Amino acid sequence: MSLRPGLFLDRDGVINRERGEHTWRMADFELLPGVAEAVRYATDAGYAVVVITNQSGIGLGLYGHADVTALHERLESELAASGARINLILYCPHHPSKGKCLCRKPGGLLLERAIARLGIDPAPSVMIGDRERDVQSAESAGVRGVLVPANGDLRNAVKRELRPA
Ligand SMILES: [Mg+2]
Ligand SMILES: [Zn+2]
Repeated sequence: MSLRPGLFLDRDGVINRERGEHTWRMADFELLPGVAEAVRYATDAGYAVVVITNQSGIGLGLYGHADVTALHERLESELAASGARINLILYCPHHPSKGKCLCRKPGGLLLERAIARLGIDPAPSVMIGDRERDVQSAESAGVRGVLVPANGDLRNAVKRELRPA
């Protein structure tokens, strides 16, 4: 199998509006403008699109895996309505107060897992996030990290950072 580049995306603040608190209720989920177009652009350029998100609210007992799954199904169906598809969504459910895990960003384990599962070449890949820990998680997996302002327009970042084959 030949390797392909990956576009890794943080979720809160990059795909949906960062509200300054945990987002798990449907009513609080707001897809940011330009996301579907950005994902389509990446797919057309030959990139696998992967979302990597810390969801420590699960570890806190604030919400459950089923809530996250339901929210991600909604995200995927909203994108599908615009002809866009995310290849894989991985999340860390742990809260640092309950002990250290390897999957929480700034750790790189979830990126590494996606790289192995989807046959991604880290070298030409990009991670776009709104926090320093997103960049750190990328770098620990051999992926270039790009820091963007929260709740910005993903189209601009993707068109600037991706290198179409
Ligand atoms: Mg974020
Ligand atoms: Zn974890």
